[in-house]
Order: sequence, then C-alpha cells, then structure tokens
Amino acid sequence: MTDLYAGIEAGGTKWVCMIAANPQEIQATHRFPTTTPEETIAKAIDFISGQTHPAKLSGLGIGSFGPLDLDPASATYGYVTTTPKPGWANRDLVSPFQKAFQIPIGFDTDVNAAALGEATWGAAQGLSDFIYLTIGTGIGGAGVVNGQLIHGLIHPEMGHMRIPHDQDKDPFPGNCPYHGDCFEGLATGPAIEARWGSRGEDLPPGHPAWYLEAEYIALGAANIITILSPQRVILGGGVMEQEHLFPLIRNNVQEILHNYISAEKILEAIEDYIVPPGLGSQAGVLGAIALAKRAAGGNPRR
Ligand code: ZN
Repeated sequence: MTDLYAGIEAGGTKWVCMIAANPQEIQATHRFPTTTPEETIAKAIDFISGQTHPAKLSGLGIGSFGPLDLDPASATYGYVTTTPKPGWANRDLVSPFQKAFQIPIGFDTDVNAAALGEATWGAAQGLSDFIYLTIGTGIGGAGVVNGQLIHGLIHPEMGHMRIPHDQDKDPFPGNCPYHGDCFEGLATGPAIEARWGSRGEDLPPGHPAWYLEAEYIALGAANIITILSPQRVILGGGVMEQEHLFPLIRNNVQEILHNYISAEKILEAIEDYIVPPGLGSQAGVLGAIALAKRAAGGNPRR
C-alpha cells in the first residue's frame, strides 16, 4: 500500500489542503480563504480528519507564507514571525497540527516546499542545483545547492533583493512596506496593479506592463544565476501564468548576462533553462506533500 500524506499550502490569501501519496494518487483537495489563524487552522484540521483517520497518514507537510522560524532548536520553531499580515505575526502553525494528529510534520516556506515538490516530481528531477522563484502577490525564492534546500541564517528572501530601478522610465516608487522598490516592491501582482491601475489579468499581451515586468524578473533571475549557478530556473506563481512572459524573460536574461556565462543551456537552449513548474499550479500543495514525505522519512529539515 502506498503511504498517504497530508499537505497544506498555507498562503496569505488562501490555504490549499491535500491528501495524497504523490501527484498521480490524490485522494482529496480543499481550498479556502485565509481568515484568522484560529479559524483557518481549524478548517484545515477538520478537512484532514474528515478525509482519513490520522493513523493512516504517514506525515503532514506545511509550506507557509513567512517569514518563519525554521530552527528546530528555537522555542518558537514552527511560528510565522514578523509578517505584516494582521493577526498572523508570531503565531504557532505547527503545534496545533502536532496536537491534533501526532504524526511527523515537515515545515518550511511555501517556496521551499514548491522547490522540493519540483525536485521530487517536477521540472527539477535529477538536478542538484536549481532555483524556484514564485512571482504572485509576493515574490519568494528557493535555492537548492548540492541537493540541499538553502536555509542558512533563517531562509532566503530573494524577493527583497535590490534590482536597478530607472525612475525616469518607471516612476512607480514600489510597494514593499519595508524597502519600497526592492524586487518584490517593483514586480509583484499588486505592484503591477498599483503602477498601471489595472489588474495584470486585464492587461493584454503586448502591453508595456509586460515588457517592464519581464525586465524586472530577468534582472532578479540573472542576479541569482550569477550567485548560485543553478542548472535550471523555475518561475512559478500567479504572475507567471502569463505564459507570454517566458520568451521575454529568456531574451532579457541572455541580454543581461551578455554571453559571459559560457553555458550551452543559457546561450543555446534557454527555453529549457528558464521554465514553468512541472507541477503547474499544484507545485505549492504537492510541495507540502513532499515535505510530509521527507518528514516521514525521518529527515524533517533538509
Ligand atoms: Zn522588500
């Protein structure tokens, strides 16, 4: 019998819960909006308990919006920490599930979970080094180096790197509450809407918004490419559902790197180098299933 896991993609606007063994064997999925921590966590526990007896689950994975405390030795391990999201700062996400189910729990950022899912079943299978960037209501980045997710001091915050901002060309000041015009402040879905007065979904391909967006995403990706030397760059999240962005971003990355990185994958086969997630829009929640699987294997962190 295949081991069964519960996964939770805990996003700032919605939660997605799933019971599955792998992408081919999904028993149930449930989505609901993120409200208060008490109500949202209770809904997730109810859904999981209603689907299967906890004793039949081998593990649970939670991939969450952050920032998070991921240090197993810390008194606040399992907490969402300094989020500006009302009601969610310094909230314990892991303990309520530990109390409810008493099974191994894997906990990581939503983007680290998605990267693990892509490594296990998606576009990063067989790669030792890759990055996963998600561009949606925020920008998150995960790096896998030598087969290990980077955690380091806390966890990477690639969305808050600085990228060049030509204020004559783009006078929008950026909307990151901490940094103004960092990568996230310039290039998230809400930044597109604030700059152009129209939601991204309502802007047609060919609109100047997308040329600017592709430049910013390419600048962010090129910076990470020069630092981590990934074998592949996966771009996911709501904004990247605009598939026409991919060719623009690939061209911009080639222009920015300017033939300096002498790799065939970048110079000749970039359509296979900068790619969408193999797991599509399920990358996040299947990543949480991958976290559960890893935790059940006795390796909760790496
Ligand atoms: Zn920022």
